[in-house]
Amino acid sequence: WGADYVQAISPYVGGKPIAEVARQFGLQPERIVKLASNENPLGMSPKAREAILAAMADSTRYPDNDGYALKQALASKLSVPAEWITLGHGSSDLLEMAARALLTDADAGMYSRYSFIVYTQAVQGVGATHQIVPDRDFGHDLPAMLAAITPQTKLIFVANPNNPTGTFLPADELLDFLRKVPPHIAVVLDEAYVEYIEPALRYDSMAWVREFPNLIVSRTFSKAYGLAGLRMGYGVSQPALTDVLNRVRSAFNTSTLGQAAALAALDDLAFIDQAYAVNRAGQAQLAAAFEALGLRYIPSQGNFILVKVGDDAKAGARLNLALLQRGVIARPVDNYGLPQWLRISVGTEAENATCIAALRDHYAAS
Ligand code: PMP
Repeated sequence: WGADYVQAISPYVGGKPIAEVARQFGLQPERIVKLASNENPLGMSPKAREAILAAMADSTRYPDNDGYALKQALASKLSVPAEWITLGHGSSDLLEMAARALLTDADAGMYSRYSFIVYTQAVQGVGATHQIVPDRDFGHDLPAMLAAITPQTKLIFVANPNNPTGTFLPADELLDFLRKVPPHIAVVLDEAYVEYIEPALRYDSMAWVREFPNLIVSRTFSKAYGLAGLRMGYGVSQPALTDVLNRVRSAFNTSTLGQAAALAALDDLAFIDQAYAVNRAGQAQLAAAFEALGLRYIPSQGNFILVKVGDDAKAGARLNLALLQRGVIARPVDNYGLPQWLRISVGTEAENATCIAALRDHYAAS
């Protein structure tokens, strides 16, 4: 079944669920530490939890297909008109919408090597050609991306910070890139990890959305807001682009519970500050342990760290199994072309300590 281009797609592989690992390795689920999917180890804001419970009663009816209340709140927070916002079933949905709206099988979508795997799926899912541009030090090489543009290129994905590498592009490089991309090519600036960027490096991408009619900024409630299971994301773009995104948006793509939780979570600024602080402390804790073990890692502006765990092509898989046996779920990245590396999400201090102990144990034994 399916056209050749559908057969060519590799299904998305998510982090292993705790219950599955518990069963497979005969472990107590409570003792398993999951550091595989860049979730928030603090959970969600208590305000979001309350809003979900309150919204349960409304869940017999369909959700608001236009997400009116949430878009109003986002608009006022971001200082853009509500009409510039598109809600997504997670921000992955936005990435898929951009590909559906903007690419045909005669076009090409571009992204960097070692960037988020959903770009590949979104581009392949519409039968378009992908243009994968070699990285620069594990991050995006923006000049090389500009140089790789062809008449077929219609959509470019850039993640900042990038997953799975955690690399970051400074504002001036991004702005220079946006100025040089021909205006008929759309750019998705994927800011799934924007809340984790250190203050000195932050920039105002909403000003860029106002300046560039070909820009879509996508963001998510899955990471710092701790709502990954509810699948809520959004895109911000000028009206002409927003219009086409909404034409290909699935009916009722965001749920009543998700909209209510996101709306409540937006207000809890103290929770996001806490998530930021816990992430910075956790990064320092993990980085110190990697250094002590002599492991190379990539400094990250996300809530995860990519660490090189060995020199052979099985190193990532081997350590991943060793960690699973010790009750720690990390993320292999061989599907990203990084078989010598593992991506470890930053947890609470205790979770990081469990992960570090398992790493020490493994390297001491091997
Ligand atoms: N973009 C990037 C760079 C990501 O890492 C992720 C999550 N892994 C997403 C988008 C999508 O997340 P969600 O669909 O949960 O919003």
